[in-house]
Amino acid sequence: MFDSSVKYGILGLARSGIAAAYKIKELGGKPFLSEKKDKEKIPEAAQLLTDFDCEFGGHTDRLLQQDVWIVSPGIPLNTPIIQKGIAAGIRLISEIEFGYQIKASDSKIIAVTGSNGKSTTASMIYHILKAMGTKCILAGNIGAAFCSFPIHKPGLQYIVLEISSFQLDLIQSFAPHVAVLLNLTPDHLDRYANFDEYCQSKLRIFQYQSSSDFAILDQDSVEISKRDRALVANKLYFSSQSKAAAAYLDGKFIRIKDTKLSIYELKLKGLHNQLNAMAALLSIQALGLDMKAAVKAVKEFTALPHRLEYVDSINGVAFFNDSKATNTDSTLNALQSFDRPIRIIMGGSDKGEDFSLLTTALKKHAIKVYITGDTKYIMQQAWLGKLPLQIIDDFEECVRQAFADATMGDNIVLSPACASFDHFQNFEHRGETFKAIVRKMKREKEQT
Ligand code: ADP
Repeated sequence: MFDSSVKYGILGLARSGIAAAYKIKELGGKPFLSEKKDKEKIPEAAQLLTDFDCEFGGHTDRLLQQDVWIVSPGIPLNTPIIQKGIAAGIRLISEIEFGYQIKASDSKIIAVTGSNGKSTTASMIYHILKAMGTKCILAGNIGAAFCSFPIHKPGLQYIVLEISSFQLDLIQSFAPHVAVLLNLTPDHLDRYANFDEYCQSKLRIFQYQSSSDFAILDQDSVEISKRDRALVANKLYFSSQSKAAAAYLDGKFIRIKDTKLSIYELKLKGLHNQLNAMAALLSIQALGLDMKAAVKAVKEFTALPHRLEYVDSINGVAFFNDSKATNTDSTLNALQSFDRPIRIIMGGSDKGEDFSLLTTALKKHAIKVYITGDTKYIMQQAWLGKLPLQIIDDFEECVRQAFADATMGDNIVLSPACASFDHFQNFEHRGETFKAIVRKMKREKEQT
């Protein structure tokens, strides 16, 4: 329920902040918008200035006159302005929390978090719900922001949300009917004091659930098992090892309730995607929907772009774009998804991860590592003398070198284990650049 007597400040004018501002306006409120960057750097600035009371180029004390701040997930909680807000007793919430507070009561939320696989699993759940003919939306970190949909109006049955730890850091009542925690592996260690703090942040997805809600968890994860005892929701586990789990791998079959599915019927590669499929199917089970129809729909689901996406082949050498692999665990899964060793292109901007975690897997699953991007020397230090390596600063040259070394039947995989902000706008830009280089090389080959 929206309370028009509350004065809202919007801190940070990216996708979710802008969506929240327009939602408040639509509901009859008058938010105050504040952005640290100059207005020239915000593409929507001119429109925002006509629609709202805004400030750009820094945060003034006008913000302190608001009761609640909706804080962008991009703003670390240790920044001075946040500390100032806390000291002034202002309530800080995320856009996900605000959306939850104002949403109509007839829709059910299925929220997905984890270190890796969020977009894939959330999209899979959405795909199944749509195939079943339900009225549903997919929002949050993927696609459009939660508040950009008409969530305050009745009529939506299901809202599938992809949620990051940054959004979870500022929830106060957000209680999804189904909450999925896919895995817990190191990520964002540049924003959290340590790994445990990051894990606690992810676990907040379950904090406000009741005993009529569902928690879907990876039974094989030691880090999750250590932390899931106190959850009040009904726990449904998935596992690649234990047949006691609600969804499990039985040889080449996924078994769940009274249904089964051969892993060869999935269009996605790798064990990690089999686990994602189990989590998606358990979400449907928790909603009490038809499992046979869900299994049928999951078989039709294809990989999202930039997640182990097959690009093309040139002279029998196959190229895969896994640009979304922005941490070591996702790259580990890429390495384990191929039947034979790969040529892997790695490197990007640093998030403070320990790359030596990948040494054993690289030795086993990589013919050679091609390193590019800002992490080149950190990676070199981790692997020098242990693996065949080559550092090539220029991204295109790096891809070309991998191809020049390759022989028929080789797989060349871009799976950076790093964020992309060193040389690209985002992971999509990096993935598209990679695909364009592959296409260019193919044209060149065809012309010779
Ligand atoms: P997220 O939204 O959490 O970043 P994505 O579905 O976009 O997850 O996938 C990101 C990367 O992680 C891709 O490289 C993908 O192949 C890999 N991945 C997907 N699912 C998993 C999983 N369950 N465990 C580990 N890695 C995964």
